[in-house]
Amino acid sequence: MIGTTKKPFPEIMAALEGYQKVAVVGCDGCAKVCLTGGTDEVAALAQELRAQGKEIVFEACPERTCNVVKADPVLAPLADRIKEAEALLVLGCGGAVQITRELTEKYGITVPVKTGLNSVGHMDTLIGGTLAVEQCQECGDCILNETGGICPVTKCAKGLLNGPCGGAEDGKCEVDPSRDCAWILIYKRMAALGETAKLKKFTAPKDYSKAAKPRVLHIKEGRVA
Ligand code: SF4
Ligand code: SF4
Repeated sequence: MIGTTKKPFPEIMAALEGYQKVAVVGCDGCAKVCLTGGTDEVAALAQELRAQGKEIVFEACPERTCNVVKADPVLAPLADRIKEAEALLVLGCGGAVQITRELTEKYGITVPVKTGLNSVGHMDTLIGGTLAVEQCQECGDCILNETGGICPVTKCAKGLLNGPCGGAEDGKCEVDPSRDCAWILIYKRMAALGETAKLKKFTAPKDYSKAAKPRVLHIKEGRVA
């Protein structure tokens, strides 16, 4: 299970700045257990967003949003509604956010996919199918809102926050040429969103004390200790 805590509401509003029509996607798996992104939390946050003047295009809550096998059947029939949305807000772990982004791309829809949660610990996540791909290292200080929904901490071999390193060739990572360079993927994603100017902003070193292990998640208090 991936432990998650809620991002402060002002941080969520900042991530959604400029986007009026928002779809909220939760996860009835780990996030439900953590009381951060199940059906009830999705409904509650959608209500908060409405109170701030946002238009909620739809609410959805796959059984396991990090699992394509579970998320695709829920989101694929909503493709036309996803096209209406100016942004998707995902209440799930970093993996769930990125699977949602990958599904929107699979549907041929270019829409920002934002997160409302911080992933704070890898606690026995099970991904269906024959291949599990690491999406998130649960750093506790999620920067997906700044990197087009692609995690450089996990997908860049060097974990660079201000890439690329300059060693990529033909879009492939110099550390492992069988893999795409994460920062080239981020650039392409930001270009598709018309947001490359945001990449000029320097990202400060992460506070890795938030990732010190072993972490314990106090679910009801929404805190890590
Ligand atoms: S920045 Fe990456 S490692 Fe950290 S929570 Fe987000 S997806 Fe996970
Ligand atoms: S080539 Fe790209 S993915 Fe590989 S280490 Fe450099 S920036 Fe990271």
